[in-house]
Amino acid sequence: MSTTFSPPAAHHADLDERIELILNEVIARNPAEVEFHQAAREVLDCLGPVIAKHPEFADHKIIQRICEPERQIIFRVPWTDDRGEVHINRGMRVEFSSALGPYKGGLRFHPSVNLGIVKFLGFEQIFKNALTGMPIGGGKGGADFDPKGRSDGEIMRFCQSFMTELYRHLGEYTDVPAGDIGVGGREIGYLFGQYKRITNRYESGVITGKGLDWGGALVRTEATGYGAVYFLNEMLRRRGEGIEGRTAIVSGSGNVAIYAIEKLHALGAKVVACSDSSGYVHDPAGIDLELLQQVKEIERARISQYAERRRDARFVAGASVWEVPCDLAVPSATQNELHESDAVALVKNGCVAVAEGANMPTTPAAIRVFADAGVAFGPGKAANAGGVATSALEMQQNASRDSWTFEHTEARLAEIMRNIHQLCDETAEEFGAPGDLVKGANIAGFQRVAHAMVALGLV
Ligand code: NDP
Repeated sequence: MSTTFSPPAAHHADLDERIELILNEVIARNPAEVEFHQAAREVLDCLGPVIAKHPEFADHKIIQRICEPERQIIFRVPWTDDRGEVHINRGMRVEFSSALGPYKGGLRFHPSVNLGIVKFLGFEQIFKNALTGMPIGGGKGGADFDPKGRSDGEIMRFCQSFMTELYRHLGEYTDVPAGDIGVGGREIGYLFGQYKRITNRYESGVITGKGLDWGGALVRTEATGYGAVYFLNEMLRRRGEGIEGRTAIVSGSGNVAIYAIEKLHALGAKVVACSDSSGYVHDPAGIDLELLQQVKEIERARISQYAERRRDARFVAGASVWEVPCDLAVPSATQNELHESDAVALVKNGCVAVAEGANMPTTPAAIRVFADAGVAFGPGKAANAGGVATSALEMQQNASRDSWTFEHTEARLAEIMRNIHQLCDETAEEFGAPGDLVKGANIAGFQRVAHAMVALGLV
């Protein structure tokens, strides 16, 4: 990429035009990676005023450098199913930025995984991790493997094969993966076990989301969902409102969704609907968390099973969960799951706040609908940062061979989420966009990484 940036005092329109040129080059250099283009556009759209204030970022070509991953690894993952048939998947790890610390970000196992999706997630992760204030860089990985319907043995063989290639790129000071869609405690166990076997090192800090008996930290499992609800609470408090007595919807029914529902209930809201990729359940009496966990975490079954076992709950196949009226929405399934028409329906039904538990679940057009309607909106890179922040706390405990209590760790998580909200809120205000937490998060995260990149020289 060779776009030149003649420094300072540029007229804003001119500046925006030059950032647009950089974005166009990023798109041209990474064809067909549509999710990455979307994530890059969202961040770059916010950077005009930052470059005007810090012309040195332009001199050092920080935007161009930050859009190019430091390293991308793509590899073959061969494995056999229970009948002995051979399968081949594609594994990848994008090590995006190590300006602030070792690459840090989850692994996703889902048939939709491709380089564009892993790069969008890795790119977001750079700024999210910066917002936590912890010493962690950004990365992400995964495979186009579909864990649905696979036995424990098949999952284990897949994880072992995946790690047999990836291990050489990892290390507690190098690159530290964690879970994401399709990768939970079971998969982290098999991945860590294989890493340990190959390297002959009990290097606990090489992966996070571990079980409590073998290096894991209390609250990590709950952290993303809890953190998103803490962030939602902060947004509401800023407006003199609260969570208690509100009706809420949480999309998805995986790790993030389950613990967002738990915390919403604990703070006095009633969650009346959640979903999976086959449809949603509406339970006007409030989601029964124990039953949901039994169906999704223990039986690994479909959400329709929940409705079959619960009086007055109904399953709606193939429809959007956002058609159910609510005051609060916490999209916690996957990217681009909340569209413009969903946002219009939510606004019409009186929704006042949205906090993204998932990464980029709200489309740009839907974000505009919320902004126009004055709905409080917490973008994922701020609202779901509690997961990775607690992963950093897990690394801290691994390094000191210590383990903290649930209460202590949850108090740290709550404090981190308050700080992230405050940082985004103040940054938005400083850059002339009060209340715009998308701008606040992108600018605050970018500035922290950019300052470090300038200090570290051209690397
Ligand atoms: P899980 O695998 O535990 O759960 C994912 C949930 O989302 C499932 O209910 C799944 O339904 C649903 N889902 C997945 N893909 C789709 C799709 N294409 N369409 C509709 N529904 C879908 O993942 P997590 O809960 O860990 O992750 C959820 C989101 O949160 C992701 O965006 C992830 O990147 C983000 N996130 C996760 C963090 C973590 O700590 N785990 C940290 C920060 C962000 P089904 O079972 O039918 O596939």
